[in-house]
Amino acid sequence: MARLTSDFLIIGGGIIGINLALEARRRFPDARVMLIDKESGFGEHASGRNSGVLHAGFYYTANSLKARLTKEGNQRLTEFCVERDLGINRCGKLVVAKEASELPVLDELLDRAQHNGVDLQKITEAEAKEIEPRVRTYRHALFSPSTASVDPGEVMRAFVSNAKQVGVNLLGNTQYQGTRDGVVKTSQGSISSGYVINAAGLYADKIARDFGFSEHYQILPFKGLYLYADDKSKPLRTNVYPVPDLRNPFLGVHHTVTLDGHTKIGPTAIPCFWREHYRGLENFNFSEFVEVIGRETELFIRNDFGFRKLALDEMRKMFRSRIVSLATDLVSDIQLAHYTRWGAPGIRAQLLDTRTRKLEMDFKMEGDQRSFHILNAVSPAFTCAMSFSEYAFECIGELIE
Ligand SMILES: Cc1cc2nc3c(=O)[nH]c(=O)nc-3n(C[C@H](O)[C@H](O)[C@H](O)COP(=O)(O)OP(=O)(O)OC[C@H]3O[C@@H](n4cnc5c(N)ncnc54)[C@H](O)[C@@H]3O)c2cc1C
Repeated sequence: MARLTSDFLIIGGGIIGINLALEARRRFPDARVMLIDKESGFGEHASGRNSGVLHAGFYYTANSLKARLTKEGNQRLTEFCVERDLGINRCGKLVVAKEASELPVLDELLDRAQHNGVDLQKITEAEAKEIEPRVRTYRHALFSPSTASVDPGEVMRAFVSNAKQVGVNLLGNTQYQGTRDGVVKTSQGSISSGYVINAAGLYADKIARDFGFSEHYQILPFKGLYLYADDKSKPLRTNVYPVPDLRNPFLGVHHTVTLDGHTKIGPTAIPCFWREHYRGLENFNFSEFVEVIGRETELFIRNDFGFRKLALDEMRKMFRSRIVSLATDLVSDIQLAHYTRWGAPGIRAQLLDTRTRKLEMDFKMEGDQRSFHILNAVSPAFTCAMSFSEYAFECIGELIE
């Protein structure tokens, strides 16, 4: 390929990269915007392999970016789906308590919802059963009316089509391989770019390091498995989630109602041994294996942020009987025999702060006048993609002024 030139080069064609490209075109209508992805299609990783839940925004502390961007992201993506006639199941969500000790966490979530301006209702057990008759909760539950389900693949395709329409130059099968003197080297040749934006998901930390960023961070991959209910199991009317452990960024095994009204349980957060460790030895990479296992072993031995328990609990969820038993705590009349099909797993690109040895809870971005790096676009970044990209460009605007 002859050397290409762009004003903005975006690395990574997930929902964040595509929305950043759209935002670049909106703000700079005359700029040449190019997006590369190493896969032949777009949204092949987290953006096409997630739960498809549009989160409401009540889990996050008031001062966080997640709190700031999720409520608006939910509204905008909901409107986008309606305008574009994409499927959306506005089935809401219940958060249920297993025992008395979990009730203070429900109150904490309610408090966070109020701070974040998110509609969340504290309801009685009887009211929860009116919403979903099979739900199990201790005295109270929370109901979120604005939580909804979509088909992530369909949403991705709609954004890709928008990007093509507005003139974003989308290049698949083009892997970022390095950078030197303002030129990015790819598997298809070199690209000169005015400004580089890195939205490479599981590889964002590595790419950021080439530009002098992500000095104190490393991405740890966590695998999310889903187990689907068969057609004989009774459908649920709403998503049902447990009270989360607020010390880590995962929400716990829950029941998700999919766009077509089926239910699935999951996702897990099992530590992977390399970055794209979806199944068996698929995408095995020796140097990544050494790097990831080395870090995980260290966290396990030191038991940083309770990693030992987290890893062991999550690994047990690989067993069908275990994950179904956890799902039974939330909803009655769940039968193991009805849950036999594992769906396509997704991998969370979760950032670890290597100085504090803690998982980064919030979105994280770093950049300067030459480049900008999206380092922790974890859940609910799918929900937030539109507001997230707008915010990222506000930051970029301040850097390049
Ligand atoms: C199991 C699971 C469940 C989730 N559930 C939800 C949910 O219900 N709701 C929600 O809001 N969020 C959810 N999320 C989070 C959400 O999916 C992610 O936050 C979002 O998809 C991140 O998008 P992204 O564009 O940053 O990353 P990705 O979609 O991973 O995109 C990164 C892209 O970069 C490309 N890339 C990587 N390296 C290179 C390279 N060297 N050269 C070129 N291209 C490269 C990859 O091919 C990939 O396409 C979930 C995530 C997981 C894993």
